[in-house]
Amino acid sequence: MEQDILTKTKSPDIKVFVEEITDQEIREFSNFFSYQAGVEFFKMNMLSEIQFLEPETIKAVFKGFLDIETEVCIENLHVFAKCTCTTEEKGACKHIVALILHAKEEIRKN
Ligand SMILES: [Zn+2]
Repeated sequence: MEQDILTKTKSPDIKVFVEEITDQEIREFSNFFSYQAGVEFFKMNMLSEIQFLEPETIKAVFKGFLDIETEVCIENLHVFAKCTCTTEEKGACKHIVALILHAKEEIRKN
């Protein structure tokens, strides 16, 4: 998917955004299929090399036949996502959903 604005945020800190976002909000900027698939990707632990490039960016790589690079960042209180996958579905792709869920989990653990 090409770079896309997901939503607005009150904090310029990606950790705060990820920590506070609800499943319902994630559903709102993804779509039925990408949300379900993203949850599965997250449960199967399919992404690696998650990086918190503080304060405004998270990145991860999905290893596979072709590596897929996924990024969520905040700029001027807008949340942008980009992904090297080729989906043309509306809203955030499954990789973005999985990245956000994974980042949320990492923050919860630390
Ligand atoms: Zn993707």
